[in-house]
Amino acid sequence: MSFDRSQIDLFPTSGIANWLPNETIFSMCSRYHKLSGNLLASTTCKQLFGHAQKGTAHDFPSRIDMFVQNTGGLLGTTDDIIRERTLLPFYLPFRSAVDEEAAFLAMAGSGIGSMKFQLGILTSRFGANHPLKACAECMEEDQKNFGTAYWHLSHQLPGIWICLAHEQPLMMASEKSNGIGRFLWLLPNQQVLTSIDCRQFCSRELAAAIKISQTAERLLSLQRGFHFDSRILVKTYHSALSKRGLLTNSGKLNNTEIGAAYSMFAGELSHIPDFSNVTENPNAFGGLVLRLLRNPRSGTHPLRHILLICWLFDTWGSFWDAYLQENLNEKIREIGKKENSDQEYAS
Ligand SMILES: [Zn+2]
Repeated sequence: MSFDRSQIDLFPTSGIANWLPNETIFSMCSRYHKLSGNLLASTTCKQLFGHAQKGTAHDFPSRIDMFVQNTGGLLGTTDDIIRERTLLPFYLPFRSAVDEEAAFLAMAGSGIGSMKFQLGILTSRFGANHPLKACAECMEEDQKNFGTAYWHLSHQLPGIWICLAHEQPLMMASEKSNGIGRFLWLLPNQQVLTSIDCRQFCSRELAAAIKISQTAERLLSLQRGFHFDSRILVKTYHSALSKRGLLTNSGKLNNTEIGAAYSMFAGELSHIPDFSNVTENPNAFGGLVLRLLRNPRSGTHPLRHILLICWLFDTWGSFWDAYLQENLNEKIREIGKKENSDQEYAS
């Protein structure tokens, strides 16, 4: 790829040398907008993405190829930016490699089109707009250390409502997600942020919110290109259900007891904004988890897996060890089957 030298100078001359730790691309572009002195958001968007509006999305911006070209590749490749600076990697481990490739092409190119639908985000009950979130203590520290507050990627993940560094509830800004400021560049400040109602967070509820946040963050940190094997995933979930006595003697799902136990667990999470709607009808919620336990690829949102993991395994580490063990067991079974068929063939 060849680069136009005048475009390469965009960032160095603005005073922005590099990414801040765990920063999103929307945050970096918002910092650039502020320092550039551009009056209109569309001017900045055209300079960076070659389009007046596309590129301003705070969750899944498109035209990343154009951004890389306009910044001379100084801030990373298209692949690096999508993987390290956007929300997309959170949605990929429970999807297929084909879904991943299609999503990357959409974000690199001229528009995400039906990507949110394809990833099951639009059809989930968790909301598809991703409110911007920030931690007041992080903002203060960032202002001191870097001269500016900025949007941290880990805070933006669905399910994360606690800053794990400070164990404080996050604040949220709805400007980008309510349509009013859809095409604006924004940085976190107290005027745009509102506190979530955390007065009712007792220590048990805070601990639950921390656990969900930790699990969501671990999902994002899986290695590039990793996809769960749905057969192994089902076995992993079913082994945990069996240990809890939630399978019948013949190994089938005990629907009534699973629905009741899961609804009780989920009902205690209604203080977390992402789950306030989904816990309204515990019976329907129990039904959804049964569908997930039968077919983990049934177009479900990662938050459903995160809830299931927290319910059945308590921590990501326990779940991950169980998944790896099931994977190993499956490989040993396959080797055994192959040896048996080889022996049959030889005899
Ligand atoms: Zn913080």
